[in-house]
Amino acid sequence: MTTAQSYRINKGVADQIHELDDNVITCRDLRHAYAKEGHYRRVKVTGGVRGATYVERDRVCMRCPVKMRELYRVHSGWLERIRSYPVYPTKGYLLKNVPKGTNVIGMVRFEAFRRAMEEME
Ligand SMILES: [Zn+2]
Repeated sequence: MTTAQSYRINKGVADQIHELDDNVITCRDLRHAYAKEGHYRRVKVTGGVRGATYVERDRVCMRCPVKMRELYRVHSGWLERIRSYPVYPTKGYLLKNVPKGTNVIGMVRFEAFRRAMEEME
């Protein structure tokens, strides 16, 4: 079990969180709000089963620039989910140099709270 005392905050990480857009803060706090975008597209998969057909599609977040990419193998009458992974923007989302044990989500929530308090003033 993690105790409150074992959580750490970090100045460098706090500074980066401070720079994030409101929508990114909301997504990191509440998770992404994905919607379907576009259609399946055929893709070549390195190391895939020879002769098999693969398709992928993206689910896009309605708030922030993150996408969830899903890869499927097409079988006769059904799709086999192979993997899904997030595609992050190159800037404004991921945090750098986060020491182990840093309570990032707690810090993100604090930032959302801080901004809300600021708006009330
Ligand atoms: Zn999002």
